[in-house]
Amino acid sequence: MIHSYHILGTGYQPAHWREHARQSCRASSAARARTHVKRRELGLAALAGAATACLGGWGGRGKAAGAPSRPLGIGPDVFPALNQYVRGRPLIYLDSAATTQRPSAVLDAIDDFYRRDNANPGPAFHELARRANARYESARSTLAGFLNASSAEEIVWVRGTTEGINLVASSWASARLRPGDEILLTVAEHTSNLLPWRLAADATGAKVRCVDVDEEGRISLQDLEGKLCSRTRLVSFSHVSNVAGYINPAAEICARAHRAGARVFVDAAQSAPHLALDVQAMGCDFLAFSSHKMLGPMGIGVLWARREILEEMRPYQAGSNMAHEADLSTETLEHAARKFGAGTPNVSGPVGLAAAVDYAAALGHEKIERHEAALVAHALERLRSVPRLRLLGPQAPEGRIPVFSFTLEGLAPQNVARRLDAQGIAIRAGDLAALPLLKRFGLTAAARASCYLYTRFDEIDQFAEALGHIARSS
Ligand code: PMP
Repeated sequence: MIHSYHILGTGYQPAHWREHARQSCRASSAARARTHVKRRELGLAALAGAATACLGGWGGRGKAAGAPSRPLGIGPDVFPALNQYVRGRPLIYLDSAATTQRPSAVLDAIDDFYRRDNANPGPAFHELARRANARYESARSTLAGFLNASSAEEIVWVRGTTEGINLVASSWASARLRPGDEILLTVAEHTSNLLPWRLAADATGAKVRCVDVDEEGRISLQDLEGKLCSRTRLVSFSHVSNVAGYINPAAEICARAHRAGARVFVDAAQSAPHLALDVQAMGCDFLAFSSHKMLGPMGIGVLWARREILEEMRPYQAGSNMAHEADLSTETLEHAARKFGAGTPNVSGPVGLAAAVDYAAALGHEKIERHEAALVAHALERLRSVPRLRLLGPQAPEGRIPVFSFTLEGLAPQNVARRLDAQGIAIRAGDLAALPLLKRFGLTAAARASCYLYTRFDEIDQFAEALGHIARSS
């Protein structure tokens, strides 16, 4: 039995997100425990702290002698790409909201798959095909556990968040929307959660409307309420903004959208890396995220949708594996998620993503949250002391992930990023694929520093000092 609208209750406020995350964690712990046991049996887990040879080299080539340990007990060699010099200085990587670095456990899982088990997967052909199939299906179960999905059949493999959104815009929205229907987005959406819906609206005569945000980038629940109406067919919003870093009250938004009779799509690209997600508790209909933003490989991600909705949808692409008994004029479609898996799948991607999920689980979600909350508090305090700095998004540490978008008065953000790059500090600058939100803040560009579970406090200190120096010397 699939539960459709499980609502956490009204009055769910952003400040309660940690409690929500804890509840989600507890609710899904049984599923996670099951998948962990399964993965241990398969011998796939190379978990936290596994010491491996360093590929890069701290201060040059070869062994990572002298590289400092990282938080959460992460050994100095676990993230090889972090152990390198850039422009003659130890790399400080603060671009994790764009893509994270990968731990050895993930690199090893991918390498191991190609070295031992590589075959076009299938349950009945030969030993390697069976092994590849087992790893592929095991990854599906791991991701179902990660989301507390009702079933692994709800996990659609996609290339990333963008493809997940496009799949639903093409397959679900374009087939259902009629002239006069409305899609409700927010002004804080990433371009990938804007353009696919606009294409669907153009093709069907539907209209895209946008909910406003407040001065700190929080979705205005009042404006949402005012814009939800009987014409609203879909609400799509980012759980966490890639600019403001604010954690929107997803369960509350889903509940309100459902009361208006709309379906809800949650863009979890920036929340899946940081929060314990529970799609049943959240009460959404669709949710998508990208592996590369949460320690996994590029080119893979997950679209989750409730099984009954997947069953109603037409295939997005067609070909082998998504149908059987395909003859000249007939075929039998596979069910649920499998209907969307046309062609030979990407197996190493799910294998790597599952290893990433295992790695984070072994570190401990609560410990990761605590470390990231401390990073937020520390960074906000340090950034406050930088002259001429304007921080976008919430100024208080609560309900926020460690993503910091900012401007330095009188300096182009791209220029700030270039000057930090010259010191081995990697940040990002530009429109951050969120121009409507930047315009809402009166800007067309901003710089963004983003941290992850491996970020050290002293890296934040060095970044803030470098920024202070740039501000004072310009
Ligand atoms: N939504 C948000 C909020 C994002 O931050 C991103 C990536 N920057 C995307 C969607 C798109 O993700 P991807 O490029 O991995 O498909």
